[in-house]
Amino acid sequence: MLKALNRLLCTTLFIFCTAVSADDVSADDIDQKLDLLDVSILKDIDTSSATINELFGLFDSLSRQQKIRLYIFESVRLILAGKYENALQTLDKALFLNPNDEQLTNIYGYKISASIPLKRYEDAFSLLEKSLARIDSFQDNSIKISSYVRLMNTYLDLDKYDEVLRLSKIVFTLNQGQDSKAHCYAMVLTSSAQLSLHQIPYLEQLQLFEDTQGYCQQNNFPLIAAMAIKGKATVEFEHHHYQTAEGLFLKALAAYQPFNFELEINNIYAYLSEVYFQLQQFQQAVEYAELVDKLTNEPNNYKAKQRAYNVLSMVASKRGQFKVAYQYHVQSHAIGMLLINDKKVKETAYQVAKFDNAEKTRQLNKLAQDQEMLAKERSIMNNEKSASFMFSTVLTGTVAFLSLLLATAWMQRNQFRKQAQIDLLTGLLNRGTGEEKAEDEFVQVLARGGQYSVIVIDLDLFKQINDSFGHGTGDWALKKVAEVITANTRSTDIASRMGGEEFAIFMPFTTIELAVELAKKIRFDIESIDTRFSGHQFTITASFGVSQITADDLSLDPIINRADTALYKAKSEGRNKVVSL
Ligand code: GH3
Ligand code: MG
Ligand code: MG
Repeated sequence: MLKALNRLLCTTLFIFCTAVSADDVSADDIDQKLDLLDVSILKDIDTSSATINELFGLFDSLSRQQKIRLYIFESVRLILAGKYENALQTLDKALFLNPNDEQLTNIYGYKISASIPLKRYEDAFSLLEKSLARIDSFQDNSIKISSYVRLMNTYLDLDKYDEVLRLSKIVFTLNQGQDSKAHCYAMVLTSSAQLSLHQIPYLEQLQLFEDTQGYCQQNNFPLIAAMAIKGKATVEFEHHHYQTAEGLFLKALAAYQPFNFELEINNIYAYLSEVYFQLQQFQQAVEYAELVDKLTNEPNNYKAKQRAYNVLSMVASKRGQFKVAYQYHVQSHAIGMLLINDKKVKETAYQVAKFDNAEKTRQLNKLAQDQEMLAKERSIMNNEKSASFMFSTVLTGTVAFLSLLLATAWMQRNQFRKQAQIDLLTGLLNRGTGEEKAEDEFVQVLARGGQYSVIVIDLDLFKQINDSFGHGTGDWALKKVAEVITANTRSTDIASRMGGEEFAIFMPFTTIELAVELAKKIRFDIESIDTRFSGHQFTITASFGVSQITADDLSLDPIINRADTALYKAKSEGRNKVVSL
C-alpha cells in the first residue's frame, strides 16, 4: 500500500492538491466529506476508504458533480491499492458523467498514472497528447500551469526528457515565479531531465539541483528539496566523487524518511551499496544491497535491484567467490534485459502516438518482434535450466553415489565454464558478454543521442613478465590489473577481459574527457601496483587507447577500431601512455 502511495506521491501529488479548489465549498455534508477526502486520501488511506464506502452508500442522492468527484477519489484509492484496471474503469464512469475542464484534466492524469504500471504506454502517450491539446484552451492560468507541470512529470516517467524541457520553458514563462509550488516542481523536473540527458557540464548540472534545493527549502517544500539533494548526490556519484556522494545520499535518505517515500528510499539504498563498494567498504555495500534484494520483484524496483545485484556480484568476485558472483551477475543481467525491453516498448509507444497509420503498423510489428525475441530468450533459459535438472535426476537413479557426485560436479563446472559470463582468472566479464552488454547500452545511447566512450588496454611487454618470472606471476599480475580496473569503474561502465593481457572498458553516457581522465588514473594505479607480494620485484605498465562515439557510428565496432588505433599509437610512442582519437 505504502509503496503505491509513494509512487503516486511522485507522479500525482501536485495535481491532487489543486484538484477540487474550484468547487464551491457548500455547507452540504457530502461536499464537506468530499473536501476532507481531498486532504486525507494521501495521508490516511484507511479513514479515506471508509468515507468513500460511506458515500457510495448514498450514491443515488449525490449530485452529478459529487458523483464525478467520488469516482475520482475511488480511482485514486484503487491506484494506491495497485488495482489499475479497476481504476481505469472507474475513471471511465466519471468521464461518462460529463466532467468539467478541471476534473477532465485530473481524470486524464489518473488514467495516465494507471496506464503506466499496466505498461499501456500507447494509451498513456495518447492521453498525454489529448491533455496537451486541451490545456491551451484553459482560461485559468493556474490550472494551465499545474496541468503542464503534471505532464512534465509524466513525460519524465516515460523517459521523454526533451518534452520535459520543452514544457518547463512554458511553465517558467507562464508562471513567472508566482506559484512557488509550481516553480519548485518545475525546477526539480527540469534538473532531473537534464541529468538523464547528460548534455550539460558537471558544474552546471550540480548548480541546477543546488538552486532547486535552495528555492524549495526556502518556500517550504521539503520533499522536493530532498529530491534535489538526491539529484546532487547522483551527479557526484556519476563523476566518481564517492565520498561526497555518500554524504549527500545519506542526507537525502534522512530527508525522505519522514515521508516514507519508499521508492526513493530504496533507490538510495541501491546507490549507497555501490558507493560503499567503490569506497572499498564491502560489508556496508553488502548490507545496503541486501536491503534492496529483499524488495518485491515489481517493475518499480528493477533499477535498484539491478544495481544491487551488480554490487553483490562485484563483492563476491572480489572475495574470490566466482560462482556466487556469476549467479548475481545472471540476475542483474536478467533485470537489465527487462529494463531494456521496457525502454523499447516505451519508445515504440511514443513513436506510435506521434506517427501516422502506416508507420504505426510498422512500429507495432517491430514491437511484436522484440517481444517474441524476448519470449524466445526466456524459453531458452528455462529449457537450459530444466535440461540440467533432468539430467541430474536421471543420474541420481542410475549411478552409484560417488560417480554421481563427480559427474554433477563436472557437469556444473563445465556448464559454468561454457556459459560463464565471467572470466575465471580476473572476475571481469569475458569478451562475448562484455561486448554484448556494451552493444545493448550502445543502442540506448543512440536512442537518446548521448555520449559513449571506449578504453582499450594492453599490458606492456607482458611476455617478458611471463618469461622472467613464470606464468604464475603473469596470472597474478593480470588479477591485480583487473582489481585496479574494477576499483576505477562505475556500475554503468562495462569492464571486460578481451583476451590474454587485453582489457576494455565500455562507458555509456560518458564523454571522452572523462574517459581519458579515468584511463590516466588507471595507468597510474597499474604502474603503482606493489609487485613484491608476487615474490618478485618488477613494474607493470599498460598502454591505453581511448575513443568516443561520432555522429556516423551505427555500431560499436568503429569506436573500438579507433580505440585500437589509438592504442597502437601509444605502443609506438613508447608504451605506458594514454592516447585518444
Ligand atoms: P606489447 O607491449 O607489444 O603488448 O608486448 P607484449 O609482450 O605484451 O605482447 P604480446 O602480445 O607479444 O604478448 C602477450 C603475452 O601475454 C603472450 C602470452 O603468453 C601472455 N598471456 C596471454 N594470456 C595470458 C594469461 O592468461 N596468463 C599469462 N600468464 N600470460 C598470458
Ligand atoms: Mg596484446
Ligand atoms: Mg601486450
